[in-house]
Order: sequence, then structure tokens, then C-alpha cells
Amino acid sequence: MRIHRQIRIIGLLLTFIFFGTFIHGLGAGNRLKMETKIYLVPVGNIESWVLEALEKGLRETFNSNVEIFRKMELAQEAFNSERNQYFCPQIMNSFRIFIEPGKQDKVLGIIDEDLYVHGLNFVFGQAELGGHFSLISLSRLRQSFYGLPENKKLFLERTKKEAVHELGHTFGLEHCPDSKCVMHFSNSLMDTDRKSASFCSRCKKLLDKLTKNTD
Ligand SMILES: [Zn+2]
Ligand SMILES: [Zn+2]
Repeated sequence: MRIHRQIRIIGLLLTFIFFGTFIHGLGAGNRLKMETKIYLVPVGNIESWVLEALEKGLRETFNSNVEIFRKMELAQEAFNSERNQYFCPQIMNSFRIFIEPGKQDKVLGIIDEDLYVHGLNFVFGQAELGGHFSLISLSRLRQSFYGLPENKKLFLERTKKEAVHELGHTFGLEHCPDSKCVMHFSNSLMDTDRKSASFCSRCKKLLDKLTKNTD
């Protein structure tokens, strides 16, 4: 009898925890949808089909408003002629003057030039952890960069993965050990191709929690 009663109490408790988690999850999703806006900023000329595909993909992933913002001109002082690359932190700094996002808003710059930071040959992108600003480069996501025939579908998949990854950082997510998770660190394009465009269950849960805590 006593054991049965204990099992019933544990059962009730588990049901409560389950529903509690479920409701919490819903709440976080709604909150993100209502309060967060993601601005896509073309840095220099970016083809409209790329921006439109990204707008759609990010809206689905983050369940959030996404807006294509006006173009930011490429800052020529960020160009390093010896490396034939743009200095990523300088472009990130230009954002702060160009657009003033709201407290919950995120900004993703898209540039069709190769980027670098000190100490690295190149970067696919950069983001402020738990901040507003992020940037991705399209250059190395194209097959043609490696002398291969162009593949539009693969290019868009890679673009979405890089965009979700950098935006994930702005929401406060760090790198994930799960090689299939979009938050896994891409050391090379092979890593990008191996991972999915989605968050693993752990990162998804964390994202819901982080977006809830930004009130
Ligand atoms: Zn990262
Ligand atoms: Zn993960």
C-alpha cells in the first residue's frame, strides 16, 4: 500500500515536471517570436535571392521576425591589400554606427568578401557572445572558391548553417561538442558540411532558457 502510494506521488510529480517543462518551452518560443527581431544587413552588394532565402530560413529556425535592412557600404579601410581580405573586427565595429538594434534584437551582416582576424588565415564569420552583432562571409561557402562547379543548393545550406551558428552565439550559445549540432565549431568547410542547420536538443533547450532570461 505504502509503496503504491509513493509510486502514485512520484507519478504525479513527474507529470507536473513534464507539463511544467512543456509550458515553459511554449512560453519561451512565444516570447522569442514577440520580442526578438533579426536584421539582415548586406555589407556591400549581396544578391537578393541569397538574402531572401536566409530571411525565410532564419524565420523558421528562430521563430522570430526577420527583416532585410538597407545595405551598409564596404569600409575600404577594413581592406588589407597584402592579404586581399577584410579585417573582420573593423566591419563589426562599423555596425555599431550603422544600426542601433533594440534590447532583444540581433543583427547579422552578410559580406561577399573573404574575412580574417589576427592569428587566423580566415574566418567564416564572427559574433558577439550574448550581444547584438554577428557577421558571415559568403566567399568560402561557394564551390567555385575551390575551383569546383557551382552548387546553389549546397551554397544556401552552408550559408544558413553559418548564419544560424553566428546568431546562436549572439543569443548566448557557445560551441557544442555534438558534431551534428549547428553550434559545433567549423574548423573547415568539411565540418560545416557534416553538421546540420539545427540545434541539438541540449542547445535548443539552452536557447529557450537564454531567450527567456533576456527580459
Ligand atoms: Zn562559433
Ligand atoms: Zn548543440
